[in-house]
Amino acid sequence: MALERHKVSTIVSIQFLGAASEVGRSCFLVEAGASGTGASSKMTAGRPGRGTTLLDAGVKIAGDEEEFPVLENRQMASLDRVILSHAHLDHSGYIPYVYKQGCTAPAYMTKPTRDLTQVLLADYLRINEGCTPYDEKDVVHALKKTDMLEYGKPKDGVHFSNAGHIIGSAVTELEAGGKKILYSGDINDRETRLLDACQIGYNADALIIESTYGDPLDRHPSLKDASNQLVQCIQKTLDRGGKVIIPTFAIGRGQEILFLLENYMRSGLLEDTPIYLDGMVSKVLRIYRHNALFLKKEIQNRILSSEDDPFKSVHYRIPQTKDRSDVLAQEKAIILATSGMLNGGPVLNYIKHLGPDEKNTMIFTGYQGVGTRGRQLLEGAKELQLDDTLVPINMQIQEAKFSGHADFQGLTSFAKTISGLKDIFIVHGEKAKSEALGKALGKMHKNAEIHVPALGEEIRI
Ligand SMILES: [Zn+2]
Ligand SMILES: [Zn+2]
Repeated sequence: MALERHKVSTIVSIQFLGAASEVGRSCFLVEAGASGTGASSKMTAGRPGRGTTLLDAGVKIAGDEEEFPVLENRQMASLDRVILSHAHLDHSGYIPYVYKQGCTAPAYMTKPTRDLTQVLLADYLRINEGCTPYDEKDVVHALKKTDMLEYGKPKDGVHFSNAGHIIGSAVTELEAGGKKILYSGDINDRETRLLDACQIGYNADALIIESTYGDPLDRHPSLKDASNQLVQCIQKTLDRGGKVIIPTFAIGRGQEILFLLENYMRSGLLEDTPIYLDGMVSKVLRIYRHNALFLKKEIQNRILSSEDDPFKSVHYRIPQTKDRSDVLAQEKAIILATSGMLNGGPVLNYIKHLGPDEKNTMIFTGYQGVGTRGRQLLEGAKELQLDDTLVPINMQIQEAKFSGHADFQGLTSFAKTISGLKDIFIVHGEKAKSEALGKALGKMHKNAEIHVPALGEEIRI
């Protein structure tokens, strides 16, 4: 599994151009044989394990604001490799812009990541019409540069293995200047309904690790407990004649929750109720099915025996009217709608209609970023401004603790299995969480230097 080490050691530097003490706009520039100015990348271009590599290029969406990586245009034109760890926009949303600025490098990613990124970027362009730094033709151009990698089959000094976070998500081992850098991307150390847990046991000189739930107090309940809690909350709402809205990210939690509900209804533990899929969730479901090879064996087997195919449940429904009156007219319904943090998408329309009624319940199932409407509701907001309407919020607000990310325990046990580390960089977390995880990893890897990089900081390894 391990990549062959290069004998010659060169100066390797990493620049933290996003996801530094924040969640969002993940972007790291690894330069080998240079001081980080990009000056020598031409010299080293095309040589495996050397040159300039970009790890992810995402956007940060907080409230109505957007932030991009602090990557300079000249840096984009001189890249030798681009690596995309997974499809989520906080990792992929800036990639087309990089290619628009003259990047000609191959973009390494798995097939599900390519398929999902295509759909996500199209949706991103549609929602932010005219306000994105690139357009459809830039997306097409960027995706043409895709070089698909499978787990366990390295190429050009890049090795992917399963990260367990969403379908096709990868942990990257990168050869650069004779050093090995391990980039966790977003990881989950527990198996879910659809995915196996992330692979563990690596050897690397440097680790770049996420810290979304990096505080020792961040402890996820077991999948079973979280599932039971969610189902009880749904049943309670249905019993009092209410409807349930579950805001979901297009990719990841949405599909997991859907399979969970289907399973509970199938076994009679949850009342048979129509489950409406609104927005990107249903489109993405098809991609999941097409890429079933990246799902757990058990799911692959169920697809093969057609009467047990979990993708084809009698409970799934697609809204038939533009104003969703068919959904709202239902006596009982569970609605899965994007977007997950209430930044936009069909979920807002449901809030307008169902938010004022205390019989209804909204259940959050994922991380709510600082400054988002989702975070506001979790913090007790009693009204929401949607377009020009101030909507009173009387529905119940609940949180089911599902996560596609490892918690503190998961992150530390992942890191524990890595040998040879001399530098550890903590990213993709609110500052206090990154620092808390750094403290724990420092105790575990006594010979490694711990860094919580600032935005734009460049560090030599
Ligand atoms: Zn992610
Ligand atoms: Zn992320």
